[in-house]
Amino acid sequence: MDARSPQASRNETAAFRRGADHIAPDCAGQNFYAVDRGLRDLLPLYLSPADFARLRPHFDRLGALAGGRLDELARIADQHPPVLHQRDRFGRDEDWIDYHSAYREMEGIAFGDFQFHAMSHRGGTLGMDRPLPAVAKYALQYLFVQAEFGLMCPISVTDTSIHLIRKFASHELKEYLLPKMLSADPAVQWKGTQFMTERSGGSDVGTIETMARFESGAWRLYGDKWFCSHADADVALLLARPEGAPAGTKGLALFALPRRLEDGSRNAYRIVRLKDKLGTRSMASGEILLDGAFAWLVGKADRGLKQMMEQVNLSRLSHGVRAASMMRRCVNEAMVVARSREAFGRTIIDYPLLRRQLMKIRLPTEQALSMFLFTASAMDRANAGDADAESILRILTPLLKFRACRDNIPVATGAMEVRGGNGYIEEWVNARLVRDAHIGVLWEGTSNINALDIITRAVGKSRAHLPLAAVLARLLDEASTIPSPFRDGLRLALDRAMHLAERVAAEDCLEHQARKAASALYHVTSAVLMTWEASRPGTDARRALYGRLVLEHRLGAHNPLALDEPAWERKAVELLLSELDVSSAEVTELLS
Ligand SMILES: Cc1cc2nc3c(=O)[nH]c(=O)nc-3n(C[C@H](O)[C@H](O)[C@H](O)COP(=O)(O)OP(=O)(O)OC[C@H]3O[C@@H](n4cnc5c(N)ncnc54)[C@H](O)[C@@H]3O)c2cc1C
Repeated sequence: MDARSPQASRNETAAFRRGADHIAPDCAGQNFYAVDRGLRDLLPLYLSPADFARLRPHFDRLGALAGGRLDELARIADQHPPVLHQRDRFGRDEDWIDYHSAYREMEGIAFGDFQFHAMSHRGGTLGMDRPLPAVAKYALQYLFVQAEFGLMCPISVTDTSIHLIRKFASHELKEYLLPKMLSADPAVQWKGTQFMTERSGGSDVGTIETMARFESGAWRLYGDKWFCSHADADVALLLARPEGAPAGTKGLALFALPRRLEDGSRNAYRIVRLKDKLGTRSMASGEILLDGAFAWLVGKADRGLKQMMEQVNLSRLSHGVRAASMMRRCVNEAMVVARSREAFGRTIIDYPLLRRQLMKIRLPTEQALSMFLFTASAMDRANAGDADAESILRILTPLLKFRACRDNIPVATGAMEVRGGNGYIEEWVNARLVRDAHIGVLWEGTSNINALDIITRAVGKSRAHLPLAAVLARLLDEASTIPSPFRDGLRLALDRAMHLAERVAAEDCLEHQARKAASALYHVTSAVLMTWEASRPGTDARRALYGRLVLEHRLGAHNPLALDEPAWERKAVELLLSELDVSSAEVTELLS
């Protein structure tokens, strides 16, 4: 009960409000689905009408959670990172990790309520009688991560571990693991993870030293894994070299390592310590010492890396989605600040320099949204047996991971700057977004490793850029409501980007240009997609303006010393930052 007089209480509230008046609010209480015009417009394009109708209430529900309870929990969990205990009070080496109750509550939402880990593998989640399409799964990840990034690692890696077990494990192993891994009951559920990196190298996995010995009818692992996220998972998929196998990647086999043996006792490995990380602080990453740990061989012993790469690629896609998601949170935060903070007597969104800064945050965010939805739709088509879609997925996955994760860093910094000094203070989400953004360019391959994968393997060996170019050309044809000269400009950029990628792939001496060539592929793909999307009935026609901005600023020649900002661009920025509806005629004029 408030013991103060009603007047005192009223005065204090008024004083508080006066103080708060000067501080720009954040996105607390927003529904991240409802405020996301791009996502709302694009989901009906990339999902069947029936799936969209069925899943829409869940997008809406998760959007509200992400701007509400989940956001509160994420802030608390970030401030109370997990703690490793090496021994119990009797001195037994029973290592375990303690998590804050906020993290546990988020696990309940993710694994119990939405069942992210299982939604691709069985029916029964979110009222669906079959697995969710990839587009829906990644759209849900995108909404979740706008609140909580750290936990998405255990969620995604459980999902991808299930994929590997389903695809490569023996019948007996599937029978043993899958009922546990697919369960949504915390008392039964086994969560998964993936340990590859050793001290000798994360990029150069051929140097892996962990040894597998076949002893008394079972595989035993000996070695040291240096980076192990979701360190206390119930089952880890990892690479090790069977005794006598050749050096390099050819000698690596894939194993499943249970944390507990069938009798409930601890397996022979220890979490030696947890990493003190810049970001993803709610989630435990540790170092693991394997001392004769029991493990199951998964699939063929000489195809370990090939099999593991399926998990890596699924994780890469999810990382691209996570980057898109964090960028969206940055946009949401920046727009709230820009529309409410005042300086020099005006709301800051009125200043041309700030508007330019906002566009630098929004453009890569919208690119990443189109890119991840298109990539996920390629996965859905590939899963249905479309061979071209499989090739397109092959090239789009590292493209998305490479570019979106890189873009996330300046976007997070830009959004922090829009909030001003408060953006640097840990009470506001911006500081966490800046910290979390950086991991995207490290795990599942650095930028260089992904760029080389795109150019050397996806373009050079698999020729996956060819079906991608064909689909993009078809989408440009379909976008018949968009003025032809602009579409011709995109066609030319498409040809030039494909040609650049082919040349860099073909000539060893051009390897140092791999990132440039990969960026060009990403930009041209996103520009075509946004243009096509804008041409579809029911979609915001302004998306094509993003396409033009990409064409001019990312794919065209530009003079860094030129002063001119063309009239179309000034008007385009105005329209894109406006909350009012814009007619397609206004947009068409700016594309002509
Ligand atoms: C918080 C965190 C959690 C992680 N969790 C996991 C996990 O759960 N499981 C797991 O397996 N790993 C995990 N990792 C490891 C991560 O995947 C690796 O750190 C990453 O792959 C890079 O490997 P590295 O650290 O050995 O760097 P290196 O491979 O030594 O790379 C150093 C630099 O060299 C560059 N480089 C390497 N080769 C080439 C080349 N051919 N051409 C050009 N440049 C090159 C790289 O781009 C990089 O800039 C985690 C890392 C972090 C930071």
